[in-house]
Amino acid sequence: MKELSTRLIHTGDARFAAKIAKMKSLPETMPIYHSSVFAFDNIDDVDAIYEKEADGYIYSRIAAPNADAVSEMIASADGGEKAVVFASGMAAITTTILSFVGTGDHIISSNVLYGGVRDFLENELPRFGVEVTFADLAAGDITAYAKPNTKLVYTETISNPLMEVPDLEKLAKSAHENGLKLFVDNTFATSIVVKPLNLGADAVLYSATKYLGGHSDIVAGAVAGKAEIIDRIKKSLVLYGGIASPHDCWLLARSLRTLDLRMKRHSENALKVAKFLEAHPKIERVFYPGLESSPSYERASRQFSSGLYGGMLSVDLKGGEESARKVVNAFESIYLVPSLAGTATTVSWSAKTSHRFFDREERLKAGITDGQLRFSVGLEAVGDIIAELSTAFAAALDKA
Ligand SMILES: *Cc1c(COP(=O)(O)O)cnc(C)c1O
Repeated sequence: MKELSTRLIHTGDARFAAKIAKMKSLPETMPIYHSSVFAFDNIDDVDAIYEKEADGYIYSRIAAPNADAVSEMIASADGGEKAVVFASGMAAITTTILSFVGTGDHIISSNVLYGGVRDFLENELPRFGVEVTFADLAAGDITAYAKPNTKLVYTETISNPLMEVPDLEKLAKSAHENGLKLFVDNTFATSIVVKPLNLGADAVLYSATKYLGGHSDIVAGAVAGKAEIIDRIKKSLVLYGGIASPHDCWLLARSLRTLDLRMKRHSENALKVAKFLEAHPKIERVFYPGLESSPSYERASRQFSSGLYGGMLSVDLKGGEESARKVVNAFESIYLVPSLAGTATTVSWSAKTSHRFFDREERLKAGITDGQLRFSVGLEAVGDIIAELSTAFAAALDKA
């Protein structure tokens, strides 16, 4: 018999996995394949897999079971031929953009973007000789900004924190007429609210850290689209290395099983909260695309065939920064969380978190005021959310 140290190394490993694979029952859920590499007992199999004559995994940066399983779910949800998952939303976005531009190229981007993406486009890409024009793309015409070297158009479905919705259908048409690709960050909406690929987008991108994950326990990213686009991105991913871990892929798959339920509840709750806030005497203005008062309402309701508008909304409080401070401190179960899309209702203060490092004048010009609060409306009973808001407004502001 072999030594104990050897036995511990040579049992319960690939041989055991092979034994399970031959059994007549299957695990009801996808197991977590925590294996960086795959083992062969036959050199011909290695040849066959490298030559793509047989299916098989080799090394987990190149391809891995949990990443493939969750990619299939995301492709299916978004109506893409394929999808690919990443270690973060930023990994997904930067890898995708770098897959389609090179020195001398030009990008047209929306001027309201997630801060990290804006920073990447504005301050990183110029080092590689890529030029970016930031413009108001809401109306959906990019012709005025297109140049001979333009390669792609980049926007978000619902912008942060003012929840503006661009005309994606027109944008796709305008981009394609000019020979450009349209990439859409659909993080705030998800495929349950709107499927940008169906409106003509060439790729849809996600911070899966947010609603796709939905429980504030993973950082991940994803991109879905046509096979030729995803294959190109996948090639870069394998080289840049920003892959998602097996465990995070497994958690993401678990979360996606309830995406439909969660997004419906987030959206229904948010619409009710938005209406409550709109009628509240201490609120100056509510930003939510599902309100008829929203400048994005027509575009949103035309394109969001789900009839849902997502769980994110912002408000301008009467009394500005001082009111915001009092209200945030008066909340009991609504924590200040500088992210979004978990199961609990949370609040974020754009001027102090996501837009903290913006020039104040520029920030104000963009409509992001000092007293603006952004709510990620959670899955709680909506009456409880509204009761807490109502109590906090009364406690913090009635005396003022
Ligand atoms: C959070 C976020 C990102 C960045 O994703 P990470 O997972 O934090 O890397 C990109 N776009 C939007 C709209 C986001 O909200």
